[in-house]
Amino acid sequence: MILNVLIVLLVLILFLAAFVVLRTLSFPRPYEAVEPEEGLQVDPKRTAKHLAAAIRCQTVSVMEGAPPDHEAMQQLHAVIQKQYPLVHKHLQRSVINDYSLVYTWVGRQPDLPPVLFAAHQDVVPADPEGWSHPPFAGEIADGFVWGRGALDLKNQLVALLESVEALLQAGFQPQRTIYLAFGHDEEIGGHNGAKQIVEWLEKNGVELAAVLDEGGFVSTDMLPGVSLPVALVGTSEKGYLTLKLTVDVTGGHSSIPPAQTAIGILSRALARIESHPLPAHPGLMRPMFEHVGIAAPFVHQMAFANLWLSAPLLNKMLSGGPQTNAGIRTTTAVTVIRGGVKDNILPAHAEALVNFRLAPGDTIAFVCDHVRKAIKDERVHFEAVEGGAWQASPISPTDVPFYADLAAATRKVFGNIPVAPFLFLGGSDARHYTSLCPNVYRFSPLIVSSETLARIHGVDERVAVDAMVDMVRFYSLLIRDWCGGED
Ligand SMILES: [Zn+2]
Repeated sequence: MILNVLIVLLVLILFLAAFVVLRTLSFPRPYEAVEPEEGLQVDPKRTAKHLAAAIRCQTVSVMEGAPPDHEAMQQLHAVIQKQYPLVHKHLQRSVINDYSLVYTWVGRQPDLPPVLFAAHQDVVPADPEGWSHPPFAGEIADGFVWGRGALDLKNQLVALLESVEALLQAGFQPQRTIYLAFGHDEEIGGHNGAKQIVEWLEKNGVELAAVLDEGGFVSTDMLPGVSLPVALVGTSEKGYLTLKLTVDVTGGHSSIPPAQTAIGILSRALARIESHPLPAHPGLMRPMFEHVGIAAPFVHQMAFANLWLSAPLLNKMLSGGPQTNAGIRTTTAVTVIRGGVKDNILPAHAEALVNFRLAPGDTIAFVCDHVRKAIKDERVHFEAVEGGAWQASPISPTDVPFYADLAAATRKVFGNIPVAPFLFLGGSDARHYTSLCPNVYRFSPLIVSSETLARIHGVDERVAVDAMVDMVRFYSLLIRDWCGGED
């Protein structure tokens, strides 16, 4: 009898194991290898000089509400006009809201929906302390162009213009209309730049076929256990919500205090919010591992191919690191707390700000409901801080030709590496374009290690001249693939 039960059990386990292995084997998405392609001839020296000139314009975005530096923006516009004569001869230039720029390259077939390539003109501030080359000197040394914006995002702005200038030089005429859209306030939300560009396009009745903006990179050391570089294409980005929590009670003298002061009540609420994280969605990472495919360790493939079995274990593992945790759930960060004025006065009021970055699928209403249940204290009131809340962006598809072309162009330039979709954790102008188009991709064609990543918004931001050449090649190939040439 016991033997029979054991045999049945063993057979069941074998079936289960076979099922798991079969699912794992059919999990990776195969991709076709492509031959490397040069694209257009790019002059490295000239490209580097052009980027350096753009870096010298101190188009710094300081804080939301503060106006742009008028002189610096004008200087950058003049640099662009001087450096790209053919662009200005053949494309239509529109200035939106004083500083944002849109270039329209009218296609030969106006019935084809246009595509849009985005970059931003502004940069974050830079304290010159600690830099090997001053952040706004635009110096070229040791094979790099140094300065604020070299990686975020004047490299992309310049590379796009270089590639269009070179395509025009080569006599290329697109079938599909192409927009180059350069916002001027991405670093402070894009409300006056990209958002206005979107309104301008809407007013002109434009519906886009595809959008490419900044986002992921060709990452060399982002995924543990993966030795190949992986091109990470942001197919969605997180939403944003800040809640203000307040507690109002009767104040008084601290010699006869109640059991809990306003600060105590608020602190307990904040501790409860922190100890009740929002639910994990390991499925958000599944498409990435599907596309990384056989380049990922077998156990990773097995885990993501069999989420029905592995989800609890994966949730635990992925929640352990800040980066992976942010990739699978809406994150919670208590960022500001205020309360109390003097050691012997009971505070009548205490308040705190909690910032959430929303994962796709978690709505603002859902997060508020979760917070209410976590706090479970009617003495604590909360509301969304005005003006700064939005849902996560819809997830752009990977089974459309625009994505396939993007992946192919990447492989033509960077070799036969996996090109995988991922959830972009930062914010970009791209989210504004999702109202015009389902195919919005966030990717900068640039090899980036975690060491390089630290230079973005940091000290010694720089880009290799060779990397700039690759960027220009990439855009020229992709523009050709997305927009077609002469018939
Ligand atoms: Zn940027």
